[in-house]
Amino acid sequence: MLIAEWGATTYFLNGGEMPDDSTLEQYNLRNIAIEPALVKEFISENHHLTQIDLVGGHSQAIDALFILPPNVLNSDIAQQLGCEIEEGPLGAMIKVDEMKMTNIADVYAAGDIIRSAHNVTFATGDGVMAAMAMH
Ligand SMILES: Cc1cc2nc3c(=O)[nH]c(=O)nc-3n(C[C@H](O)[C@H](O)[C@H](O)COP(=O)(O)OP(=O)(O)OC[C@H]3O[C@@H](n4cnc5c(N)ncnc54)[C@H](O)[C@@H]3O)c2cc1C
Repeated sequence: MLIAEWGATTYFLNGGEMPDDSTLEQYNLRNIAIEPALVKEFISENHHLTQIDLVGGHSQAIDALFILPPNVLNSDIAQQLGCEIEEGPLGAMIKVDEMKMTNIADVYAAGDIIRSAHNVTFATGDGVMAAMAMH
């Protein structure tokens, strides 16, 4: 929602679910338009994104696009060790306790692989907690 403070904003649902009424009210207050159609294609000129084409034939000029890709674990090391994996709101995460230990004794995990919100501060904090627990 903060993106709307930078200029005209459209939320492209790409065929996804319409937000609930209270969320829609928040979008209305910030003049965020909702576009339910499926996205067909992105158009660029001179390596700059300029337009989004939607299924149904209409297009919209855009200056920038923010996307929310799903999180994936880059290797299966955790699975090989028998660590439990859980499905978070954005994808797979290794399940840990408050000390960052997995369900396998003495196997710890920290950072992006254990949480949905990817952030340096969280990752370093997780690492410190795991290191203290191991110590
Ligand atoms: C474009 C972008 C912008 C971002 N901007 C910000 C920002 O402004 N502020 C902020 O707080 N966060 C930002 N983040 C998120 C931040 O980068 C991560 O949250 C943080 O780097 C997570 O640290 P990590 O140690 O968990 O994982 P990583 O930094 O991803 O480190 C994991 C390391 O493990 C290595 N690795 C993976 N598999 C193996 C393997 N099998 N064997 C050996 N090594 C392996 C990888 O090569 C990598 O070096 C951004 C991320 C991206 C992609």
